[in-house]
Amino acid sequence: MTGSYLVTGSAGFIGAQVVQSLLAGGNSVTGVDNLCDAYDVGLKRWRLAQLETSKGWTFHQADVCGEDQIKNLFNTPFDAVIHLAARAGVRPSVENPGQFLKDNLSSTLNLLELCREYGTCKFVLASSSSLYGSCQSPPYNEEASTDRPLSPYAASKKAAELMCYSYHHLHKIDVSVLRYFTVYGPAGRPDMSLFRFVQWISEGRKVVLYGDGSQSRDFTYVGDIVCGTIAALKPLGYEIINLGSDEPVMLMDAINLVEELVGKKAYLEHQPRHIADVMTSHADITKASKLLGWRPQTSFREGVSQLVSWYFENREWAKDVRTSTD
Ligand code: NAD
Repeated sequence: MTGSYLVTGSAGFIGAQVVQSLLAGGNSVTGVDNLCDAYDVGLKRWRLAQLETSKGWTFHQADVCGEDQIKNLFNTPFDAVIHLAARAGVRPSVENPGQFLKDNLSSTLNLLELCREYGTCKFVLASSSSLYGSCQSPPYNEEASTDRPLSPYAASKKAAELMCYSYHHLHKIDVSVLRYFTVYGPAGRPDMSLFRFVQWISEGRKVVLYGDGSQSRDFTYVGDIVCGTIAALKPLGYEIINLGSDEPVMLMDAINLVEELVGKKAYLEHQPRHIADVMTSHADITKASKLLGWRPQTSFREGVSQLVSWYFENREWAKDVRTSTD
C-alpha cells in the first residue's frame, strides 16, 4: 500500500535518500528544506536535482520552524511526517547553540503542533547516538541514561525526544524516535569524517585528524538507515530505537581503508580531540531487530567502496565541495 509523506530536511544527506526510496515505492512525497548554509549548499542542490523529475515529488524551500511557512502543506493529509531537518554535528553546536535549539527543538514542536491540528497520526524523529555521551559502557541500548548530554547538539535532540513523548501522551501521536549512529555513504555530509577522508586523500590534501585516531565510530551505511527509517513508519506507540551497525571501526582503520580504495597515502595532521567528542560509539541493535525486523546489510568495506565510487563519478565538482577546515 502506498501513502503520502512529509519529509523535512529533504535536501539533506539522509533526507534525500529517504525521499528517493519512498518515491521508488510509488508513494507521494512532499519535501521541505530551508537549504541552510551549515555546509556547502551546492551539495544540497545536487541532491535535489537527482529528485527533480520523479513522479509524486514536490519540494518547498521553507523553514520548518515557521508555522506560517509550512501550515498550508498540511491541507493535503499526510500518513506520516518524517522529521529529519536539523542542525547536525557536535562541534558546531558548541559555537552556535541557539541555532541548534531553534532548528532541532522549535522545529519539532512546530511540526508536532501541526500534526495535532491536522490529525497526522504518525511522526518519525531523527535523533542521535550522541545522546549516550561517554558515561555508558558500550554497546549502548535504548534504556541507558541520556541525562548528561556532552554538547548542545545532543541536548537539543534529547529535548526533541521529550517533546515527542509529551505529544504522544497528550494527543496520541504515534512516534518512532530513531537514534542514528554515524551515517556515511554517497553524497554524504562534507563536515563528517568519511566524506573528508575520501576528498582529502583523493586530492592529496592534508588529512586533519582530531586525536590519535584510536576513537571509534559505529559507522552505518545510509542505505541501511533509509530502510530502518521506512520500517519505523509502522505504528509503535512511542519507541526509541537505535539504528547502528553494531561494528565500531577506529578512525585510523577507516583512513587506512580509504587509502587502499583510493590508491593514495594520507598526509596526516593531528589536532587535539574536542572535549565534546565521544571516544567511542557502539549501538546495541537488538530492539531494531525485534520491533522493525531490521539489521544493517552493508559491510563497512562495501559502504566505503560505494562512497569512493560516487566520489570518482562526481569528482569534477565534488573535489571543490567545501569542508569546514578548508
Ligand atoms: P543534513 O544536514 O545533511 O540534513 C539536514 C537538512 O535539514 C539540511 O538539508 C538542512 O538544510 C535542513 N534544515 C535545517 N534546519 C532547517 C529548518 N529550520 N527548516 C528546514 N530545513 C532545515 O543532515 P543529515 O546527516 O542528513 O541528518 C538528518 C537527520 O539525522 C538530522 O536530524 C540529524 O541530526 C540526524 N542524524 C544524523 C546523523 C549522521 O550521521 N548523518 C547521525 C545522527 C543523527
